[in-house]
Amino acid sequence: PSLFSAIDMAPRDPILGITEAFNADQNPNKINLGVGVYYDDNGKVPLLSCVQKAEEILIAAPAPRTYLPIEGLAAYDKAVQELVFRADSAVIQEKRAVTVQAIGGTGALKIGADFLKRFAPDAEVYISDPSWENHRALFESAGFKVNNYAYFDAATHGVNFAGMLADLKAMPRGAIVLLHACCHNPTGADLTSDQWTEVIAAITAGGLVPFLDMAYQGFGAGIAEDGAVVRRFAEAGGPLLVSNSFSKSFSLYGERVGALSVVASSGEEAARLMSQLKRVVRTNYSNPPVHGGKVVATVLTTPELRQLWEDELAGMRVRIKEMREAFVTKLAAKGHDFAFVRDQIGMFSYSGLSKAQVEQLRAQSIYAVDTGRICVAALNSRNIDVVIDAIAKVL
Ligand code: PLP
Repeated sequence: PSLFSAIDMAPRDPILGITEAFNADQNPNKINLGVGVYYDDNGKVPLLSCVQKAEEILIAAPAPRTYLPIEGLAAYDKAVQELVFRADSAVIQEKRAVTVQAIGGTGALKIGADFLKRFAPDAEVYISDPSWENHRALFESAGFKVNNYAYFDAATHGVNFAGMLADLKAMPRGAIVLLHACCHNPTGADLTSDQWTEVIAAITAGGLVPFLDMAYQGFGAGIAEDGAVVRRFAEAGGPLLVSNSFSKSFSLYGERVGALSVVASSGEEAARLMSQLKRVVRTNYSNPPVHGGKVVATVLTTPELRQLWEDELAGMRVRIKEMREAFVTKLAAKGHDFAFVRDQIGMFSYSGLSKAQVEQLRAQSIYAVDTGRICVAALNSRNIDVVIDAIAKVL
């Protein structure tokens, strides 16, 4: 037998499995609500005008493709930091925040996980129950034991806050807590501002290490509103890691643009952290790609493109909210109460549909995740009535 002959087939990615089944479906009216991307009202992934205009600027001044520094494009890292923490924040003023460009939000999480493993090898990681399915795999692949903390309450379709707080308070000092900064994936259930106050207090008092994952900034209440929780953690003091992604907010999925920011207790400590982050990047992929970082940096630092981006992102946010509203009112008209969908935030909804109901929907060529997660951004003015009729049939 050769080295490879005994290797097992790896388990299938559940969401990619849906895509495969969807692609194989011959029904021309099939609908995929299992996706993790924003579709516009035409059912297409948009190319934002701000991105197109930034690319025109870049093409007008062709540049050689040299290597970027290990930590990425300086203008990008600065713009990201100011977006995430605000330029006037103490962490930026005191040079306590370090930011490295990363290969999407996933790459940022992986750099953060590898970094933490070097300096907190015995810590355990806690993720929400449920969480984005790659969180567990990413931290396990970095060598951590990964545990769940209570999060979703199926009975209320909201957060089991008492359970979450109790779990936070029971964690050992030094434990790493992964939190969704906004627009929780997969449930769509976020904490209130008052609940965040209690979470920050519990994390500070317990000596825990918060790692905020912000993949949907701007899809909740707004860019500044969604980022507020990051700034509150930064102000609370203590170590902090923040991964952010522009995959969704710039509709730049395939360019892989994200960043990892780490907050230190002093500028001198920050310099040491940066040197170690660079070491992690260097041994993973040496340095990040150029194009996506340049596009995002150009948009964020050119006032009229920045305004255009904010308007376009607001358009995506508003359209999702309209789809939530239509979903609730149209099901209500058929006698079904889904009012909770209106209160959920971001691209996703834990719809409460059971695995059996999801299977029955699939028989009608409507695809969702077995857990009942639907992507609200995959609904549009032309497919919503078909979806509502199909759901009403399986209820
Ligand atoms: N974190 C969460 C919660 C996500 O939902 C996603 C993407 O779906 C990511 C991180 C990864 O983002 P990216 O596609 O930029 O790697």
